[in-house]
Amino acid sequence: MKIEKDRVVLFHYTVSEAGQEPLESSEGRGPLAILIGHGNIIPGLENAMEGREAGEKFEVDVAAADAYGVRQDGLTQRVPKKYFKDARLEPGMQAVLPTNFGPRAVTILKVGMSVVDVDLNHPMAGKDLHFAVEIVEVREASAEEVEHGHVHGDGGHQH
Ligand code: ZN
Repeated sequence: MKIEKDRVVLFHYTVSEAGQEPLESSEGRGPLAILIGHGNIIPGLENAMEGREAGEKFEVDVAAADAYGVRQDGLTQRVPKKYFKDARLEPGMQAVLPTNFGPRAVTILKVGMSVVDVDLNHPMAGKDLHFAVEIVEVREASAEEVEHGHVHGDGGHQH
C-alpha cells in the first residue's frame, strides 16, 4: 500500500541539522504514527514520503522553509507562568505552550515571579534538516481518524 492522503504511516526517523549529530530519533521508542495530508508533519518530510511503501528506507534534506520555517525576529511574548505544565522553568529550555491553535513548542527566555518571556520561534526554526526514515507500516485511516485529523492508537493520540 502506497503512502497517500488519508492513510496512516508508521515510521522510524532520525533528524539532524545538516552535517551534525542527530537531534532527535525514534530509536528505542515505537515508531511515530502520522496521518498523511492533514498537516501533522513538516511539508518537506510529508512530500518525500508520498508514494512510498512499508519497508522503504530513505534520506532527505529539508530546507528550513519546508521544515519548521525560517526564524523570525521579535517573536517574543510574555505569558503567565500558570500556562506551563513544567514544574521548573529555566532560560534556554524548551517548553510546550498551549495556544488557541494547539500546543506550541517555545524556548524560555526569562523567568519571572508570575510571568515568563518566551521565544515563539519553533526550536528548530531556521534549521536545514536531514532526515533518515524507515517506513514501518502503511494502512488506511479510519473514518474517525480522518475526521479528527490525527492517528489513534499506537504512536498516535490516546483519547
Ligand atoms: Zn482523535
